[in-house]
Amino acid sequence: MYDLTKYNGLNLKSEASEVFSFETEEDLIKILAHAEDKQRELQIIGSGTNTIFPRYFSKIVIKSANNNFSYTEDDSHRLLEVGAAVEWDDLINFCANKNIYGLENLAGIPGTVGAAPIQNIGAYGLEISTFINYVECFDTELKITRKIKADNCEFGYRQSLFQKNTHLIVTAVGFKLSNQFNPSLEYEGLQNLQFNKASDMIDKIRAIRNTKLPDPNDFPNLGSFFKNPIIDIEAVQKNQKLIDLKKFELPNGKIKLSAGEMLENLQLKGMKLRNVGLWTHHALVLTSNGVTSAKDIRHLEDFLKTLVKKHYDIELEREPTYL
Ligand SMILES: Cc1cc2nc3c(=O)[nH]c(=O)nc-3n(C[C@H](O)[C@H](O)[C@H](O)COP(=O)(O)OP(=O)(O)OC[C@H]3O[C@@H](n4cnc5c(N)ncnc54)[C@H](O)[C@@H]3O)c2cc1C
Repeated sequence: MYDLTKYNGLNLKSEASEVFSFETEEDLIKILAHAEDKQRELQIIGSGTNTIFPRYFSKIVIKSANNNFSYTEDDSHRLLEVGAAVEWDDLINFCANKNIYGLENLAGIPGTVGAAPIQNIGAYGLEISTFINYVECFDTELKITRKIKADNCEFGYRQSLFQKNTHLIVTAVGFKLSNQFNPSLEYEGLQNLQFNKASDMIDKIRAIRNTKLPDPNDFPNLGSFFKNPIIDIEAVQKNQKLIDLKKFELPNGKIKLSAGEMLENLQLKGMKLRNVGLWTHHALVLTSNGVTSAKDIRHLEDFLKTLVKKHYDIELEREPTYL
């Protein structure tokens, strides 16, 4: 058995009978043939920072080992192709060192490049989809490698086509970035800041994040546990229970609410149920002491959703995935 306890953000005790890493299309074809022979399904994982692992995986676990970088440039753009196994924050450092710009707001997000398009990672007002040119995938149904253009990836707030098409294994991501540093500082908390260098902005974003999120070594966590609800303006106007909450108007006219604010108003910061709880400084962050299970996390999730539904008539949606 392979111990995967250290490979998931919540430190849940977890094992798998078979784990393979892959780098090339040939590797994936061999792994797939083996899985078909054993009549078992495949489960791709990255760094486990947005997933809740089971005690035992019934599927064969696979993980990318593609750490390749390639880049070309034209007059105004830098075109990068980055292997799925590269850590996202290493890509941020690489860009800063090579004067490649655009991704600064997304500094400090944990996880791999291959997983980043899955929920269209976002922070400080920007999402990765803005910078994606294409996503390279191995299609386990067609048994070929395909490049899917960003326009066809169905990107939205914390969503993409890959979430419901798990036969697509991301092998690399193509980015279209800039050779000009043009900081995006519209987001709350950044508006009064000025930066001459991308590396200063990256340092600042990482520092702000460190004050807002617990250190995973002290408090194993998956970042935000719930998505911020996005609802029609008419639904907000009809719902008197939302009257005192902060509301952010989005470019499409919809209204974004803060899931963290609702949980905090319900005095849930620091609460605990069966060794799983909400962080003392930020109610949107679920933390565990590792001595717990996916079942206990589901129990807490259901409890929180029920409370929010009862008090605000809003259905919270979970961000991480149960594997
Ligand atoms: C402290 C902390 C802060 C965070 N902050 C943010 C934030 O600001 N913004 C944000 O958007 N997210 C945030 N996250 C969530 C997380 O960092 C991202 O979702 C990240 O992209 C997950 O990467 P991973 O490699 O750990 O993916 P995993 O958790 O391993 O996998 C996530 C999902 O992607 C699938 N997957 C993984 N690799 C591949 C692949 N190669 N091909 C196809 N599917 C794949 C998995 O099956 C799973 O469904 C945060 C998490 C933590 C712990």
